[in-house]
Amino acid sequence: MPKPAPVIFDIGWNACINCGACVAVCPQEAGFISPFDTIATDRPCDIACMICEDICPVTTITHRPAEPAAQPA
Ligand code: SF4
Repeated sequence: MPKPAPVIFDIGWNACINCGACVAVCPQEAGFISPFDTIATDRPCDIACMICEDICPVTTITHRPAEPAAQPA
């Protein structure tokens, strides 16, 4: 199965209830969290399993494609 393309997650902060479920199921390395104890939204996720989106009880996690890394000149 091809590796999923990296994504950046977005969280609707007004809807988030800070339950911690997204962090609990996240297979990323430790520290892939935001200042609000959710999954990180400021850097690409290269696993892109989407389990966090599935588990969020208020369905407030979405994602968009990560920008391709800049290539050295
Ligand atoms: S699972 Fe959803 S509601 Fe819970 S902390 Fe993460 S973003 Fe917030």
